[in-house]
Amino acid sequence: MADRSEHQLREDIVEVGRRLYARGYTASNDGNISLRLDPSRLLMTPTSVCKGFMTVEMMCITDLDGKKIAGDRNPSSEMQMHLEVYRQRPDVQAVVHAHPPIATGFAVAGIPLDRAVLAEVVTTLGSVPIAEYATPSTRELPEAVRKYVKAHDGMLLANHGALTLGADVFAAYYKMETIEHFAKISLVARMLGGERLLSREEVARLEKLRGSYGIAAPAPICPEPTAADLIDCQIVQAPFSPSGERLVAESAGQGRSRPRSSMGPDEEIRLTYSELTALIEDAVKSLK
Ligand SMILES: [Zn+2]
Repeated sequence: MADRSEHQLREDIVEVGRRLYARGYTASNDGNISLRLDPSRLLMTPTSVCKGFMTVEMMCITDLDGKKIAGDRNPSSEMQMHLEVYRQRPDVQAVVHAHPPIATGFAVAGIPLDRAVLAEVVTTLGSVPIAEYATPSTRELPEAVRKYVKAHDGMLLANHGALTLGADVFAAYYKMETIEHFAKISLVARMLGGERLLSREEVARLEKLRGSYGIAAPAPICPEPTAADLIDCQIVQAPFSPSGERLVAESAGQGRSRPRSSMGPDEEIRLTYSELTALIEDAVKSLK
């Protein structure tokens, strides 16, 4: 980024805005884009403009507290969410926020994109959680984002949209594309009867590939939710496969037993020896 002039960085934001609008990831004046100009200043989109029709001189420059330093227009009303990302993640150089319709549909339905389905998503984003609902443009929004931002480069915002981060503004934009693409594929798979998930063993293999491909993921993948206030790993739903299969037919959580509500109190659950071993191993891990 250091080798790009301020003018080029302004052009980058204009170009990313054009792409977001052209792909239908924003409607009307939705969405916002920002990047680090230098260690103490941010360049960001102004409020109340369509991201598809921006010009380089429209951008505002603020400090890291959001105070305007330069520009005729005021910074985006959702700037606080961007500031929180820059505070929590010194490695992040750019932030993109949009409302891509399929991913936002998952955010509205309260369904995170956290199933191990596509190898490239597991290796790059890991999982895409949902930050709890917060009134847009208020202090609540950065607080909702804070919980997930240490461990994730992309997240859904409940009943709102999606947020992505990157080492430059195009990297952040491409993660937005990946999230929307992943959401589309997940939706189609569910219409066709449901995803076959990658097994936990396969997910472990994919995670190892991150190193070989030089993918700088902010946190490791973990199989189970942690109780922490700040999420410190990427929770990916991937069922244990006792027979060593790489693909597992049923959704995580349905593989070993039926939901408790559909069972009588005295019904018997049958487990194979390896399923029982897996359950015990899980229990021991969670004790550690
Ligand atoms: Zn928004």
